[in-house]
Amino acid sequence: MSFKYRRVLFLALLLACVSLGWGAAPNHETLFQRSTLDALLAGLYDGTMSLKDLKAQGNLGLGTFDRLDGEMVVLDGIVYQITADGAVHVPSEKMTTPFACVTYFEPEFTLKIEAPTDMDALMKAIDGLLPSPNYFYAIRVEGQFAAVKTRSVPPQQQPYPPLTEVVAEQPTFALENLRGTLVGFRAPAYVKGINVPGYHLHFLDAAKKRGGHVLACTLVQGTVTVDLTPAFMLSLPPDEAFKAVNLSTDRTQDTHTVEKDK
Ligand code: ZN
Repeated sequence: MSFKYRRVLFLALLLACVSLGWGAAPNHETLFQRSTLDALLAGLYDGTMSLKDLKAQGNLGLGTFDRLDGEMVVLDGIVYQITADGAVHVPSEKMTTPFACVTYFEPEFTLKIEAPTDMDALMKAIDGLLPSPNYFYAIRVEGQFAAVKTRSVPPQQQPYPPLTEVVAEQPTFALENLRGTLVGFRAPAYVKGINVPGYHLHFLDAAKKRGGHVLACTLVQGTVTVDLTPAFMLSLPPDEAFKAVNLSTDRTQDTHTVEKDK
């Protein structure tokens, strides 16, 4: 083959790769996070990133909103807000978030659940799918649920109390016999302080009317899909509150209080 033909072939292959989306692939394999969990635990609830900018970083994820106004679910590129009354809203893209995690969801692992499975058993089943606990994984579980216990949080007023005090008063919701989706992440143990080690899941029902941060659930039957994200991007807020907050203390116990069921 002549040099000229080889060059044409190379350009054609390059064009094919770009048009197939391979050129954009590295970004899609990144878990993007705004702020740190410890900053949120410390009471940094003012939004510092618009939902529009967040959505540019992924189409699946979770988080919270400006002033801690509810739980966030990002599903199929739409941001849902579950407010403290348990209702679901689709907020304006101008709304902001103090803390959120998203990725472009391109699942590599699938698991069918055919029998009633509680949250601990579900997490063990997902663990069994994964090649290593040392990566970040995005998780989506679609199915029929016998029960989902969720919580949300009300908007806060300055001066903001720490998150442990907010969740002590958190409204919880006992949802029963409904279809829906668990959305979230499994993060490695070494991420302590930055994100939640282990599983962090939010829920949105199929009718897009109920949801929240998941405290417990029983899946009757459904499909688990998992996306291994080998890269992690931490985006830190530029505001004065983040500059001034003390992030040198160990908030492991607070993390447990805030994320888990009592
Ligand atoms: Zn949560």
